[in-house]
Amino acid sequence: MPSDTPTIEAPRLGEPYLLTPGPLTTSYEVKEAMLRDWGSWDDDFRAMTRKMRDQLLALLGDGGKDYDCVPIQGSGSYCVEAMLGSFVPRDGKVLVLANGAYGLRAAKTMEYLGRDFHLVNKGDYMPPRGDEVAKILAQDPAITHVLIIHCETSSGILNPVEELADAAHAAGRKVLIDSMSAFGAVPLDVSRVKYAAMVSSANKCIEGVPGFGFVIARKDEIEAAEGNSHSLSLDVHAQWATMEKTGQWRFTPPTHIVAAFLKALEGHAQEGGVAGRGGRYTRNRDVMVEGMRELGFETLLADRWLSPIIVTFFCPADPKFAFSRFYDLMKSKGFIIYPGKLTVVDSFRVGCIGQMDENIMRQVVEAARATLNEMGVETAAPPQAALDERKKLAA
Ligand SMILES: *Cc1c(COP(=O)(O)O)cnc(C)c1O
Repeated sequence: MPSDTPTIEAPRLGEPYLLTPGPLTTSYEVKEAMLRDWGSWDDDFRAMTRKMRDQLLALLGDGGKDYDCVPIQGSGSYCVEAMLGSFVPRDGKVLVLANGAYGLRAAKTMEYLGRDFHLVNKGDYMPPRGDEVAKILAQDPAITHVLIIHCETSSGILNPVEELADAAHAAGRKVLIDSMSAFGAVPLDVSRVKYAAMVSSANKCIEGVPGFGFVIARKDEIEAAEGNSHSLSLDVHAQWATMEKTGQWRFTPPTHIVAAFLKALEGHAQEGGVAGRGGRYTRNRDVMVEGMRELGFETLLADRWLSPIIVTFFCPADPKFAFSRFYDLMKSKGFIIYPGKLTVVDSFRVGCIGQMDENIMRQVVEAARATLNEMGVETAAPPQAALDERKKLAA
């Protein structure tokens, strides 16, 4: 298909595009799938749950036969908490590799769980590396698990997950992955990275609506997790055992959201699965980043670390630039962008995921150009402090 063929329908209700990392812009068919009610106990819905679990496991390829999929009600963080509480024994210890808000949230979760952890905090966006993980693991035999954030959505960095998992496995430790914003678009090959468990959610790269997440874990790990959990509702083993036995979720399932998610999985398969979806997001990113750079914007990260999920840009140095006005004017043109999460310099983020293609990304760049004009900003070049900050990454 020629790359400039429009493949994606504009939102039918005229709502703005969500250039955000979930909730994101979903297809009309996904929204339409929620018009029907389902009985949670009924065979039809049980079959839907089974199908969803099977289809998610199929995304792992051949290596997936040792794994099972356990959906959990709630947002993605509920799943992270369920994973940590269920797979880390009460006397276990987790090495949490953080370089942004989600890594820090995982550490906070460990605090709530009252289980031991060692936090490596790399700041806003520096990637944790395999050699430092190896060193820490050699020094601390109490560490049982290493938690890796696949794409740290707060900066958009794609962490070197294989390198980190290799370091953990070489030291005989288990790997847990928060692949919330990457699963379904960025490959994570189970024959390469033999993680004990990973989590993702309905409203990210599979392009469903928010309301549940899912844990994908080795079956032997799920079986061994019995009795570990601190929480009744977040017990992965108990949810799995009930689903295996009865086909049902333990407590009220998000029926409409599961129906929408099955529709979203159909779209994912039609697009060519992980490779097809990742390809579209990568083109979205490339077109958008190239256009924004032409306007003078600079990315926080060097190309090597840019994910196809979300990109952080420095705010322009020009005193006429104000993020809130930029946001409002972009919204009036049909695009909702995302504030930045860096602590040192001002920034904003533009997501590449959801129902949009490179044609839409060209419109995003045009909207940014028009908005800068309206604001009287001559160039989007960032302040020197931002560029100095970025130099750290290259060091
Ligand atoms: C979205 C996301 C989460 C979960 O966030 P919720 O607000 O609970 O959905 C966790 N980790 C990462 C990396 C994410 O992108």
